[in-house]
Amino acid sequence: MRKMAFYMDNNQICVRVAPSPTGDMHIGTLRVALFNWLFARQRKGKFIVRIEDTDQTRYKPDSVKSILEGLTWAGLDWDEGPILKNPKSQIPNPKIDYQSETIELGEKGPYWQSRRTEIYRQHLETLQERGAAYHCFCSPERLEKMRQEQEARHLSPMYDRRCRELKPDEAAKKLAAGEKYIIRLKIPASGRIEINDLIRGSVNFDLQQLDDQVLLKSDGFPTYHLANVVDDHLMGVTHVLRGEEWLPSLPKHILLYQGLGWEIPQFGHLPLILAVDRTKLSKRHGAVSVLAMRDAGYLPHALLNFTLLLGWNPGKGNEQEIFTKEEMLSLFSLEGIQKSPAVFNYEKLNWINKHYIKQMPLNDLTSRAIPYLTESGLITPLDNGEWITLDKRIIRNVYFESFVALLKSRLTMLKDIGHDLEYFFDRPHYETSLLIGKGELRDAVIAHLAETKEYFHTIPEKIFKAHDFDRTLKTWIKDKQRTNSQILWPLRVALSGKEQSPSPFELMSILGKEETMKRIDSAIKSLQALDA
Ligand code: GLU
Repeated sequence: MRKMAFYMDNNQICVRVAPSPTGDMHIGTLRVALFNWLFARQRKGKFIVRIEDTDQTRYKPDSVKSILEGLTWAGLDWDEGPILKNPKSQIPNPKIDYQSETIELGEKGPYWQSRRTEIYRQHLETLQERGAAYHCFCSPERLEKMRQEQEARHLSPMYDRRCRELKPDEAAKKLAAGEKYIIRLKIPASGRIEINDLIRGSVNFDLQQLDDQVLLKSDGFPTYHLANVVDDHLMGVTHVLRGEEWLPSLPKHILLYQGLGWEIPQFGHLPLILAVDRTKLSKRHGAVSVLAMRDAGYLPHALLNFTLLLGWNPGKGNEQEIFTKEEMLSLFSLEGIQKSPAVFNYEKLNWINKHYIKQMPLNDLTSRAIPYLTESGLITPLDNGEWITLDKRIIRNVYFESFVALLKSRLTMLKDIGHDLEYFFDRPHYETSLLIGKGELRDAVIAHLAETKEYFHTIPEKIFKAHDFDRTLKTWIKDKQRTNSQILWPLRVALSGKEQSPSPFELMSILGKEETMKRIDSAIKSLQALDA
């Protein structure tokens, strides 16, 4: 049993998130970033972003943009790594070479693995000189055949190590003859590796079960394993906090550190994130892409707060679920990270988002909400800072503020802001018969609307918009010897076109007196046009 020495010095700690740019930034990457960021910021350490783009076949350039933009949007900053020159300048475009769209922060770059191939080559040589890695000349056909045979015998696929025994001069001859090759890690034939994981405690691996890992592929690119270890070392990474899916790779990484004679960083593997149905979280469970969640109108801090709870909690007896950034920084600890899988629960995310929407200052929330209304076509911005609604009214910021104030406590996601509430920006569309409440006659409804309008005529706008206008109106209704529903039902429908909507008082306070009168007028006209 080999016990490992840990990285134990008092130097500044250094952590990283090292996403592979193979698709949109995923919630799992955000969680790795957040936990590392908190860990670094708590200890005045460094946080690095590194792009692990060694797999050229799966490389999607626009995913780098989604990673860098997603981290920035979420409010996580980094000390070293690529940053976008013009974060908001372009829409992701697969044809753009994002390497030239970024500049690098920090002195240990490049922070793109595809630009570091020469560095990996040098370290491969060291490994070979030390007998820890070897050339493999087996053809892809031979390897494929071997894989199929093993599969047929229900064995896990493993290279049979034929080239491991090649004499140095035999290998040299093949190289000189220009034979194609890959380079593999020489895994010791027996023994175990035991290591203390910061989250999972002692973990150990049987070396006999490990395949001789490919370190250099035939396209000349290193595999993730080599590049990851070399970079973590050269970039001074002291703690590797990453997803549990990398735990099986850990013994290979340890052997690489040993082969290169390097100190081993401390490792902590974060629990898996599962969907509510306990299967692997994927696109079919909804938007798990960070930018898609941004676009749906989740607030950045709400998403961060939710992400924090994906595998971490403040400890027994502490039920707190809402955390400011300062609280995250003071309370986060590796001890609070659970081993069992975390569950991604949309209901919880929505609840957290709703909480933050409710708390947000009105002007802030309003300016975040306006783009969603513009996008849905309900309003169009004008050059003078005002907007024009679908029904051609000119409105100002204050209109939105009262609209948002009305919704604030009911809203879960910003993208829903105009949903079912189009009538604040457009003439209401409804069946005229909806104006006629149960047991009422058309002519009576016309009369009720007409007397309501007359009454409104006599009232100054200020009283009309006052918060206690409901009491004033209800007193008038009583004096008139009408029932509330006789007056308020057709009024609500005239204003919103809906059976269910905010109260007519709320509608009127936002629409204002002039628009209210217009809508009552057009309700009366359409009733008059109805066959009696
Ligand atoms: N490139 C890996 C990923 O995308 C990073 C693994 C690691 O952090 O070591 O998950």
